[in-house]
Order: sequence, then structure tokens, then C-alpha cells
Amino acid sequence: MMNEKLNWIKSFEKPLTIAGPCSAESEKQMMETAERIDKNYVQAFRAGIWKPRTKPNCFEGVGAIGLNWLKKVKDEFQFKIATEVATANHVKLALEYDVDFLWIGARSTANPFAVQEIAEALKDTDKVVLVKNPVNPDLELWIGAIERLRQQNIQNLGVIHRGFSTYKKTKYRNNPQWQIALDLMDKMPEIPIICDPSHICGNREGLFDVAQQAYNFEYDGLMVETHPNPDEAWSDAKQQITPERLLEILQKLELRKSDDEDAMYHLNLARLRNEIDENDQNILENIAQRMLISTQIGELKKEHNVAVFQPERWKQIRENAVTQGGKLGLSAEFIDKLVRAIHQESILHQNLIMNKENPIKSE
Ligand code: PEP
Ligand code: MN
Repeated sequence: MMNEKLNWIKSFEKPLTIAGPCSAESEKQMMETAERIDKNYVQAFRAGIWKPRTKPNCFEGVGAIGLNWLKKVKDEFQFKIATEVATANHVKLALEYDVDFLWIGARSTANPFAVQEIAEALKDTDKVVLVKNPVNPDLELWIGAIERLRQQNIQNLGVIHRGFSTYKKTKYRNNPQWQIALDLMDKMPEIPIICDPSHICGNREGLFDVAQQAYNFEYDGLMVETHPNPDEAWSDAKQQITPERLLEILQKLELRKSDDEDAMYHLNLARLRNEIDENDQNILENIAQRMLISTQIGELKKEHNVAVFQPERWKQIRENAVTQGGKLGLSAEFIDKLVRAIHQESILHQNLIMNKENPIKSE
């Protein structure tokens, strides 16, 4: 495959790895992290200076003093340095301290006023500006942020995929919804894309799998939160890992080569399999939701002494499904098997409710 990515990323050996703490906490913590990170695998050091927090009265970052520490990391260890900017003043300070990569956080990307303010403050910069996906799964909002930066003549752009917020609890802190990032890659193939498995997972255990998935999709790099003593971190403690654990993960990851037919086959296969997996997940969640509703109906039936199996209702469900399925190109035979299995499982759930002993009432 032709490498049509923007030039700035080509100056790094693929993959670009950015590591460092969620938040700068002290000079000692920053220097120790930088010291322990393996320079053969990591080219850039991250640290949050100003932290966007969901609730007030949490640790909101050390503020501008942390930029001194970040600069010291750059000078002593020759890392590129990266931090989040959310206002014009953050931009001004980050540029004064010669920060190399400035990223726009997920909450800011969701707010066009904030993006516009940051873009204007960065006008004409040749620094690298990375746009995290917005907290909500909205591809156009993500693209809109890139367009706002381009309008201010900012050329060295990239994106960070950190997953999307959901009300429903899943195994992820932020659901990756890979398809949104893959669609962005199709629409803007020149924009380098970096995966942030830390904010996708919200834990340490899932990091490897998410990072490997990103490599399978030929992402250009990773950003991983790394702390000398993760359990004691002042923010995002659960998802941070030590520099030594980071090295283990990076050494285990398999990078796919991107320049022959075989690689194209694997990339296409990985994309399609991801679509299947996301679909299967939706099917399972919908079936589980259906069983919950059916349990509630079971409770109503019990209260009103109504039999679980209602032949009329079953006939109606089946006919409906066959008609709807037919319109979607699914055979009557398949639909019949599918609804039968689902209906039987529902009945099972309702029978459990019916047969549950009534709690013995005292008095
Ligand atoms: C972060 O990188 O520490 C951060 C706050 O990320 P996000 O904007 O993705 O929540
Ligand atoms: Mn964080």
C-alpha cells in the first residue's frame, strides 16, 4: 500500500510511541518515569499539565510549573514532549516551553468553540497538533476539528483514537467503536492515527489486546499512560503501567508490514472481522436486553395469574419476524429457527419467575 501519510510522521520510525504519566505530579516523578522508559521503543514523552476532570474538587493538574519538568525531560533525555491544551492560554504557555506535540482532549474536541479558540492560538504553527476523538461517537465532529485547524494553516496534524463514552457499562472505559476510526482513515488517509489504549481500557489488563488491534489496523502509533508507581498516581491510577510493563507490551506486539498484497489481505480481513465482532456484540446485547424485558413481563403475568405461553402472541411474534426478516433478505426458514430459539429462552426466563417461591410474609 502507498504510504500517503503526512511527512511529519515519516520522520519517526513506525510505530511512534508516546509514553508518560497521565498527569505531571512532581519533578522527581517526571524524571524517574523518563529515566526508566526504554528509548529504543519510545520517541515521545507525554504528561498532562492541566487535567479536564468530570467533577470539581479532583486533582486538576499541577499547572504551568509542570512545563518546566516537561522541558527538563526533553533536554535531558532527548524525547519529543507532548501535552494537552484546552485554552488559548495553555497554547501560549506550551509554545513558550517548546512542547513538540500539542493534543486536543476528547472533551475539547466535542466543543467547537474550544477547538476554534485553540486553532486560532496555534495559527501557522509547525508543531504537531493531535486531535483526540470527541467523547461522543460523532465522526463529523472529529473531522470538523481537523478542518478548523487546517483553516488556521496548521499542517502537521494527527488524530488520537481514545474511544467513546457510553452510559451503559461495558468492559471498556471508553468503547473503541473501531469503525468510526476506520471511517476517518478512509476519509482522511493522509492523517496519521495513534491509538490510546489507556483511555479505551480504563484498566491495565486490556492494554495489549487493544494495542495489537490498532497495529492490525495499521495505526501509526500508540500513546500509553506510564507511571513509576501506578497505584499511587494522582489521576487514572487504574490504567497506568510501569515503564517496565510498557516495554514488555511493546516487545510482544506484532507489527504488520504494509507494503505487499499479503499485508493488504490481512488488513482487509482484520477490518471485516472487526465489523463482524462489533455486530455480534450488538446482537448479544440486544438479546440480553430482550430477556430482561421478558422477565419483567413474567413478573406481570405472575401477579395477574396469566399463563406464560400465549399461543396468539407467539404466532404474532413469528409472523412479524418472518415478514420483517424477509424485507431484510433473510430466509423464512432461518428466521423461524432464530425466533423460536429466542422465544424458548424467554419462556425459560419467565418460568423461573413463575416457579419462584413467594416470600413467606411475616404476620
Ligand atoms: C489524557 O490523555 O490524560 C486525557 C485526559 O485524555 P482524554 O482527553 O482522552 O480523556
Ligand atoms: Mn489520563
